[in-house]
Amino acid sequence: MKKFKTESKKMLDLMINSIYTNREIFIRELVSNASDAIDKAYYKSLSSGESGKTREDYAIEITLDKENRTFKISDNGIGMTESELENNLGTIAKSGSLEFKKKLAESDDISIIGQFGVGFYSAFMIAKRVEVVSKAVGSDKAYKWESEGAEGYEISEFEKSDFGTEITLYLKDDSEEEKFGEFLEEWTIRRLIKKYSDYVRYPIKMEVTKHKTEGEGEDEKQVSYSEVETLNSMTPLWKKQRSEVSDEQYNEFYKDKFGDYEDPIRVITASVEGVVDYKALLYIPRNKPYNYYTKAYEKGLMLYTNSVLITDKCADLLPDYFNFVKGVCDSQLTLNISRETVQQNRQLKAIAQSIEKKIKSELLSMLKNDRADYEHFFKNFGLSLKYGIYSSFGANSEKLSDLLLFKLASSGKYATLDEYVDNMKEGQTHIIYATGKSVEGIKALPQTEILLEKGYDILCLTDDVDEFCIKMLRTFKEKEFKSIESGLDVELESAEIDKELEQKILKVLEGKIFKVKGSKSLKNHAVCLSSEGEISIEMEKVFAAMPDNDESTKAQKVLEINIEHPIYQKMLETSDEEKLNKIISVLYQQSRLIQGLAVEDATKLTEDIVSLMID
Ligand code: ADP
Repeated sequence: MKKFKTESKKMLDLMINSIYTNREIFIRELVSNASDAIDKAYYKSLSSGESGKTREDYAIEITLDKENRTFKISDNGIGMTESELENNLGTIAKSGSLEFKKKLAESDDISIIGQFGVGFYSAFMIAKRVEVVSKAVGSDKAYKWESEGAEGYEISEFEKSDFGTEITLYLKDDSEEEKFGEFLEEWTIRRLIKKYSDYVRYPIKMEVTKHKTEGEGEDEKQVSYSEVETLNSMTPLWKKQRSEVSDEQYNEFYKDKFGDYEDPIRVITASVEGVVDYKALLYIPRNKPYNYYTKAYEKGLMLYTNSVLITDKCADLLPDYFNFVKGVCDSQLTLNISRETVQQNRQLKAIAQSIEKKIKSELLSMLKNDRADYEHFFKNFGLSLKYGIYSSFGANSEKLSDLLLFKLASSGKYATLDEYVDNMKEGQTHIIYATGKSVEGIKALPQTEILLEKGYDILCLTDDVDEFCIKMLRTFKEKEFKSIESGLDVELESAEIDKELEQKILKVLEGKIFKVKGSKSLKNHAVCLSSEGEISIEMEKVFAAMPDNDESTKAQKVLEINIEHPIYQKMLETSDEEKLNKIISVLYQQSRLIQGLAVEDATKLTEDIVSLMID
């Protein structure tokens, strides 16, 4: 017997030993695998030019055997070779499996299983033994993979006449609490197929028992007979009218196809005819996939042409900033079934543009009509929109700026740029923003308090990309963006500083600051740091944190001194030059700290402070 790889064994243990309420999803997983296998076979026969088979020749069959307590599902799809049986069923190579366990521990919801490509193992939730007999298309040998769970599995040569895969589940014994026998009941299976797999495009057939009346009058009697019935309606969901499909069906389809365990936050349907011609069924996930912000995440829509699956993930159909959208696009494209043509196809580009518009208008409508949902969406995927503006150097500004949200310093609540501008104070010429790690952090900045007091609100930029994004936007509704660090005197008055003192400060802080400025707007704070020019202090921090950090990219810093603070008077009066230098140094380091920058020389700073204290 071969042993499962450690990861796979752990996963199987989990399947076998846990009691899940919705173990019925094993059906969805197995049917989905069968349907994928048929898709692959059909695609292969089309692209190799073999004309032998048509879509009608493919089917999935379910056979229930109460006597032997077996549930059998077979397909005439692509099948698996010996090594594929080994690799696909013996190992969980997928990187997601660890993540899966973590998630499972958090949510205890097994339906997240599909997300992690471990669907086949769900069979072990209800079966004590699983046999898979498979013959790969083009191969003349068939093999049997069998396993009784976590211990291991065996693969041996076997007889099978047709191509495809047949999976037999030997159901676990019934107990007081758990009745696995329910999966041998026709009506249960019928119900589950309707619920999870109705749209599967190949017939799911099962032999069912029917009753009819025979004879007449006295001789009339009920007889039962068997008949093979197709349990699913087979029409792809995206070809149906929206009104014909229930929300549950849309959601189940989403969860099955795109491996999410939660319902999507929005379902978008599109049926476009004319120059561009396509049907699409799109979803905006409720939460971001576990690998969303990693390189492993791939955007794309499933692309069908004339109901043949061309590719699982057609990236060209989605712009990067809408990469969170999942779904299917079915078109009448006249294309050769090859990847190159997909990428160069002009019709496809037109479809992509149309899809983009659809998504945008759905997002706007969510923003307008369902603010709570939109804010939830934005928390998950807002970064993508902001990167969309930044990475295109502003070229996408027009498309995306009205979808942005930023928190307000006044209320901590989200606002759109539109809302900010509409609520601007009379005479306010700029959109004022501040950067920081959190809204609270921004509220603690010296400049914030006085601005709020004077009735100016501030957009809080709390993500690294935010300020870069704003710089790319440049303006919104003809209003320029100004940072509280650099634009204060536009909104607030500045104050003259004593010239002699100014020169002294510049000398002590040579190379560190660009300018000294007097200010009346600092309330209780003695000093603060602001910047002039293109690079702000926050951007300097982001640059410094980058892997290939560019030490030369620094903000031009301005030291603002509160001329109403007693320390200012003290500086003017101090004749001891050494002491004055220490005060200046300490104040400068303080201003760095307030702004979230590191102290430059901690030893010197502490020495200076102590020496000033004992003075
Ligand atoms: P997933 O389907 O998410 O990849 P599964 O654990 O369900 O993960 O299946 C693992 C792999 O085994 C599949 O990707 C597929 O290659 C193969 N497989 C499963 N069932 C079948 C089948 N009925 N026919 C052919 N291959 C199959």
